[in-house]
Amino acid sequence: MVSRNELVNFLNTYFSVEKYGPDPAMSRFVPLVYENFDWREYFTEYFFTLFNGLMISGDDYVNHVFGSVFPTEEVLNQFINEAEFGDLLFLHHPIDMECGDPQGKSGRFILPIKKELLNRIKNKKLSIYSCHHPLDCHYEISTGIAIAKEIGLKNITPCIKQAGEFVGLIGEIDDISSDKLIEKLKAIFCIPYLDFGGKVNNTIKKVVIVPGSGDKIDFFKEAETSGVDAYISGEIHSHIDNEKGKAKMEEALEYMKDSEMSFFGVSHASSEFLVIKKMVLPFLAKKFELPAKEIPLSNWWH
Ligand SMILES: [Zn+2]
Ligand SMILES: [Zn+2]
Repeated sequence: MVSRNELVNFLNTYFSVEKYGPDPAMSRFVPLVYENFDWREYFTEYFFTLFNGLMISGDDYVNHVFGSVFPTEEVLNQFINEAEFGDLLFLHHPIDMECGDPQGKSGRFILPIKKELLNRIKNKKLSIYSCHHPLDCHYEISTGIAIAKEIGLKNITPCIKQAGEFVGLIGEIDDISSDKLIEKLKAIFCIPYLDFGGKVNNTIKKVVIVPGSGDKIDFFKEAETSGVDAYISGEIHSHIDNEKGKAKMEEALEYMKDSEMSFFGVSHASSEFLVIKKMVLPFLAKKFELPAKEIPLSNWWH
């Protein structure tokens, strides 16, 4: 058992949550997505100031820590059902995000947590902690470092800035073909297929990792200028069902026509779950001697 305050204060300090001010993406998305009720009633003042940190404050003591990437209905139902009074869920995104399936349905983009689920979380006095931007750019435990470790990247240097911090990593791997890399990534990210684009390369040496939404032309250009052969991201194309999503898809396809790089999309959700599963939860379990459990999505192309 650990005091919730002790756990939360440790996380806030470790991830320098206050240093970044309001989260660059979530401070826009969260107020936008809740329309029909006052979400602030459910969330802490700390959270609706910074959009990171303790989002829902439950009991004073935590017995088990859970971790996932997005608060989908499936994830929250499992958390509520399996958690004991006071337990805490660590998330990367504070709201759900449907990014769409390259071989299936398009995504609806950002989605609120339903009021009914928020009530059940409150009734069981559970806590939710979310850490977005600070987890993307941390120097020890980050979405990118987790992927780099799993792929076996060497000579790593940070690259690609977002909101003033590096969110990408460039490094080298032992020569591998696009086809072999696809198989390797499918196994690492537990996905049945990838989103692939650009050129088929027989010898990939230099790789960039951009977790989450990497489908940005500026990011592509920076990687290409650095001599990268493989661009690995959560999203390489937008599969989001709105005007902006369609425009981004067009732009990305246009860029890939003349690019020398191979592009690998492993799904936004899976690209950011790895750090939760492999780094955040084992770290907290050890530090606070707490049982920790990850909650995966049943479909990563969510
Ligand atoms: Zn992220
Ligand atoms: Zn993300």
